[in-house]
Amino acid sequence: MPRIVQKYGGTSVGDVERIKKVAERIKATRDEGNEVVVVVSARSGVTNELIARAKAVCDQPSERELDMLLATGEQETIALTAMALHGIGVAAVSYTGAQAGILTDKAHTKAKITTINAQPIDRDLKAGKVVIVAGFQGINNDGQITTLGRGGSDLTAIALAAAVKADKCEIYTDVDGVYTADPRVVKTARKLEEISYDEMLELASSGSKVMQSRSVEFASKYGVVFEVRSSFNHNPGTIVKAEVAYMEKVVVRGVAVDKDQAKVIVSNILDKPGSAAKVFRALADANIIVDMIVQNVGRHGIANLTFTVPQTDSQKAVKALEPVLDEIGGGQVAVHEHIAKLSVVGVGMKTHSGVAATLFQCLAAAGINIDLITTSEIKISVVISLDRADEAARLVHAEFGLDNT
Ligand code: ADP
Ligand code: ASP
Ligand code: MG
Repeated sequence: MPRIVQKYGGTSVGDVERIKKVAERIKATRDEGNEVVVVVSARSGVTNELIARAKAVCDQPSERELDMLLATGEQETIALTAMALHGIGVAAVSYTGAQAGILTDKAHTKAKITTINAQPIDRDLKAGKVVIVAGFQGINNDGQITTLGRGGSDLTAIALAAAVKADKCEIYTDVDGVYTADPRVVKTARKLEEISYDEMLELASSGSKVMQSRSVEFASKYGVVFEVRSSFNHNPGTIVKAEVAYMEKVVVRGVAVDKDQAKVIVSNILDKPGSAAKVFRALADANIIVDMIVQNVGRHGIANLTFTVPQTDSQKAVKALEPVLDEIGGGQVAVHEHIAKLSVVGVGMKTHSGVAATLFQCLAAAGINIDLITTSEIKISVVISLDRADEAARLVHAEFGLDNT
């Protein structure tokens, strides 16, 4: 029997009526003769609400306890989805991440999946049951509940698709595919029929929330082809896979905006070998992911280091840096959260020059100042003011000929 993994995001299971609709879709898939594994997220807004509650009782909640709390969001929806299926006569069983055999490392709040023991799921599928798995969570080998980073249910789905050798993996969300930009911000964005892992990964890691970036990385590594589609209609979605033969030769495939980054400036540090190493070692030891880095030219033996980190880690970064400041000349750390990262992505950049010039010119013409710049083979990112981010996305989208006219 063909095997399908379906993932339903937070909006798709946002209330009981929607959960019933999801159950109908799962039933239809099963009735077509498939074995079905379902991954669900928490109801939309629940994870944020839980984080806010944690912060209301403690300034810096312990990450172990945070995982304990956040995992409850998905535990509610797996049980309700299983019950909704029972209600329409479908045999189904719900599993937490731990029960589904999802083992992770010990990095609370951003754990990596190490192995999946798919035997229990396999057994239930063969017994004719639909298996509903809680997204975003696992267990480490100390028996502690872990979570996989925000948006982590995507990763659960892709990893399960690989583990159970699924024939198909469908990611159901509230938009009917991957667009050339966030369709909520850029109304003229176009849906892509297909996109390569490489481009999807760059878009996701640049802030396109439609897929969690680590899930795309995983899909690429294990060759999991997946489709992003809407749970609210039956439109064909976007297929994400290794090789894509594009009909039109565009240089820029998409535009992404990330509003969840913070800029950290470490100023007045000694401009000598080892300063940068100490700063980034301290951040690495605190498990903080650094994105863009700029080292200003040193003057009179004094330099500044500027970099971006996820906003959720900005205070943790300040804490991690305080002990090393003395060793590097007693500088200061400042955090700026009012920034956004705008990126343009496309494999065509490998063979075309002038993308950076066009991007910078487009922003300059609108009087939008560029703060930091980084590039990869297929991406250019700039940090700009948060206030101008949406406007910049629309202008750049039009400039690169992506508008749906
Ligand atoms: P889910 O809860 O289903 O995981 P998310 O909110 O995480 O859904 O992701 C879907 C959202 O991603 C959409 O509502 C859309 O606003 C946003 N998004 C950002 N960039 C894109 C893009 N390039 N294409 C489609 N959606 C995008
Ligand atoms: N509920 C988690 C979050 O909001 C995981 C997910 O939705 O994918 O980040
Ligand atoms: Mg998501």
